[in-house]
Amino acid sequence: MNKSIVNWRNIFLLLGTGLALLLGSTLGLAGAPPVSEKSKASAPAKKAPPPPQAKLGIVSPKPNALVSGELMIQVDLEVPAGAAPPKQMFAGLGGPPWVRLEQQKDLWQGKLDSSLVPNGPQQLRIVTDISTVRTAVPVQVENPLRVWFADLHSHCSYSDGVFFPEDAYRYARQSAKLDVFALTDHLESLDDNEWLDTREAAWKANQMGQFVALLGLEWSKEWGHLCIYDPPTYRWPNDPQQLYRALVEAKVVAKFNHPGDGTTYFDGLAYSEIGDQAVQLIEVRNPQEELAYRRALRLGWHLAPDGSTDTHQANWGNLRTWTAILAAGLSPRNILDALANRRCYSTQDRNCQVLINVNGAPMGSILTTPTPKVLVRFLIDDPDPNDAIASIELYEDDRLLETIPGRGPNLSWEKTFQPMPGTHYYWFKILQADKNTIWTAPVWVTIGH
Ligand SMILES: [Zn+2]
Ligand SMILES: [Zn+2]
Repeated sequence: MNKSIVNWRNIFLLLGTGLALLLGSTLGLAGAPPVSEKSKASAPAKKAPPPPQAKLGIVSPKPNALVSGELMIQVDLEVPAGAAPPKQMFAGLGGPPWVRLEQQKDLWQGKLDSSLVPNGPQQLRIVTDISTVRTAVPVQVENPLRVWFADLHSHCSYSDGVFFPEDAYRYARQSAKLDVFALTDHLESLDDNEWLDTREAAWKANQMGQFVALLGLEWSKEWGHLCIYDPPTYRWPNDPQQLYRALVEAKVVAKFNHPGDGTTYFDGLAYSEIGDQAVQLIEVRNPQEELAYRRALRLGWHLAPDGSTDTHQANWGNLRTWTAILAAGLSPRNILDALANRRCYSTQDRNCQVLINVNGAPMGSILTTPTPKVLVRFLIDDPDPNDAIASIELYEDDRLLETIPGRGPNLSWEKTFQPMPGTHYYWFKILQADKNTIWTAPVWVTIGH
């Protein structure tokens, strides 16, 4: 028996080798005479030369230029004999908004508001109506951060609220005068048509530079409720660990909703590495939720506090608690970038602007390069002259580090600290004379030499 198996195997091996030889010679890989260098070199010459094509040269901005505010763009167009000139030209910083460039002889020009794209390295892309005539140049975008006021958690009749998506987005913009709004109906209640309508309402409500309507959902299980922003679908896994993985894969922003004191929902906020990648925000709107926030930070989560309302009534964005978002300008890209990087704070005051800066980085930053010192700064500016600040509490980790007395509605402050080696986080709690509270996101710093 054994012998016959071996024999059969040998036969297969022989057959295999024979087939390989046969195939090899057919394909000219083996056995065929070697192709001479001369015939190889002459082969491409048989092809027709590529047709002449228009060429773009970006005159302004220069490569790697630092750009801010209104960006002037100049593109030189070279059209060799026999080439078709493009009829339309557009410019964009990595993506939308796209602006049309106008032709003035051989130079095409236009202006682009660079504050509508996230700070950092971007490609200035020039495209035309001829798909192969395009170019790009790397630039560094740097615009000052501004504060935008938002409600990122609300419902309409598609789950357990009232009216329709269009009404919610209109009310949030026109009556509540919000800069950013997200409707987040319970995904378990939605059907395909309602989901389509929710998406359409958000698309229609967006106005570049004026108002950002974010698409949102609320994943609602006994384990806890999470908001999901800009989701590609309303179907998400029921299992929390699978949800975390799906959120990371979809590269969306997520938030822990109404966490109580943090000991019950989300497994008592037990730290999860994949969860920490998946979730950026946590609702912090009262002393109890402050406990949840502080517990989450102590357990190792990197989260920013959010002050959304979770309204189920026709008062979207008008409920004495808001999320303030730090971004250069009002565009969906900017707002999603800000939330993904935890650049926001929870505020019971409708217009108090808070900018904090730790070692040069805004709130929400995670600084991993070791430094010996920490320079903490803040700037608070409430446009209401009577909205006095009572006090400002600076926390190092979960410990009150410093209480700064308030004076009127505006205040700036800075101080250098030399903390113990290791990772620390710094965040503020601001108390106004009228008892309104503001909780900022931390900055995480690594102390070492
Ligand atoms: Zn909920
Ligand atoms: Zn809700």
